[in-house]
Amino acid sequence: MVEQAQTAVAEADLVLFVTDARAGVTPGDEELAALLRAARKPVLLLANKIDDSSHEADAYEFHRLGLGDPIPVSALHGHGTGDLLDAIVARLPGSAREAVGEEAIKVAILGRPNVGKSSLLNAILGQERVIVSETPGTTRDAIDTIFRRGDRTFVLVDTAGLRRKRRQRQGIEYYSELRALQAAERADVALTLVDASEGVVDQDLTVADVARKAHCATIAVVNKWDIAEVGLDDVRARLESRLRQRPPVLAVSAKTGRGIEKLLDRIESVFDRTASRISTGALNRFLGELRAEREPPGRGRRRLNLLYGTQVQARPPRFRLVVNDPSLVTRDYSYWVENRLRERFELEGVPVDIDFVRRS
Ligand code: GDP
Repeated sequence: MVEQAQTAVAEADLVLFVTDARAGVTPGDEELAALLRAARKPVLLLANKIDDSSHEADAYEFHRLGLGDPIPVSALHGHGTGDLLDAIVARLPGSAREAVGEEAIKVAILGRPNVGKSSLLNAILGQERVIVSETPGTTRDAIDTIFRRGDRTFVLVDTAGLRRKRRQRQGIEYYSELRALQAAERADVALTLVDASEGVVDQDLTVADVARKAHCATIAVVNKWDIAEVGLDDVRARLESRLRQRPPVLAVSAKTGRGIEKLLDRIESVFDRTASRISTGALNRFLGELRAEREPPGRGRRRLNLLYGTQVQARPPRFRLVVNDPSLVTRDYSYWVENRLRERFELEGVPVDIDFVRRS
């Protein structure tokens, strides 16, 4: 039972510790209370089976568990459950984040060790930036950093490990791939860092793939530009040939601060494209051009016919293209449509989903 409780507590944001007020404090309660005090998680202590308000005094003895004021409830009759719900909502990390608003741009900083993630974070947060707050993220131990720039709000996702001093970070690679994926999954835009003193290496491509899997818009940030050993065009060519999402490539130096403002401008514009909607008219004019530009694939005497389309979702964009027969769509053709769509509507770096569906 203790083992099970420990596992559950480790995964939880908030613990509801339910006791039986009629039975009083039991040795089992004391054991669990000790475990919870050590876990340092927010706990609500519930004194259950108080079916009648005249028995509320039965709850008092649970004070001695050292977990705050017991909340009298009756699971059977529902007494106290409304107040309990309010108490739960007030303690959940999400409620702190709601204050940020949907329009905030969520950004994850990704990259292999020593590429300069922590330095970039500090450069972004440097000097004049107003840090509004640091709020718990949904992942355990994750802290997000929120700041404003002009009229925009940015949320840097899962920054606690990056803000720690370098000395304290040594030995552990803070950003495991799983952790990076979790951060990216909460972000709109992922910055995938490349070290300009070393050029693009395979691990950088793996990192970019983490962003793609998480459906993040991506910007390739070539850091340490002050000691660059490579040209930006080389980096661009290398990434373009390997990354389907075609991320924009920007050079910065976290050390000198060069390129940081431009990077923030670019994050805003990529986010705006990710959240944008293409009108059905514009999309269908574009599909007409595609039909004229390249003969669609066929099988035997049947040929794919691209009939019409709409954007069905934004942030990130998703399109539904209606065709005569989806089984005629080849991988090559769908890549081509995707990339033409990117070029035409400035969706470089933006994840794009296209569903080819049969005309009903
Ligand atoms: P992280 O492991 O990705 O967080 O990388 P750090 O931010 O800890 O940086 C790793 C090393 O690269 C440190 O010694 C930094 O001082 C150095 N570094 C980071 N950014 C730059 C930069 O723009 N220029 C130069 N010359 N060095 C940098």
